[in-house]
Amino acid sequence: MRIKVDFDLCESNALCEAMAPDVFELDDDDYLQLKQEETTPEDVADVERAVAACPRAAITLEGA
Ligand code: SF4
Repeated sequence: MRIKVDFDLCESNALCEAMAPDVFELDDDDYLQLKQEETTPEDVADVERAVAACPRAAITLEGA
């Protein structure tokens, strides 16, 4: 599935990084970076947890 982040909603609290550090990462300026744009079978559960954890509903999965 394709991972989309609405950076206008994101408040850089790193909850998604805590759930899926292989996919989400805050850079040195506290801007969220996507390390990959598609889920893999190995990380899809972690990404779904990140979607659920985001208090701003900034992450969506396309093709879910
Ligand atoms: S959990 Fe949501 S608000 Fe927090 S850094 Fe990730 S995308 Fe941004």
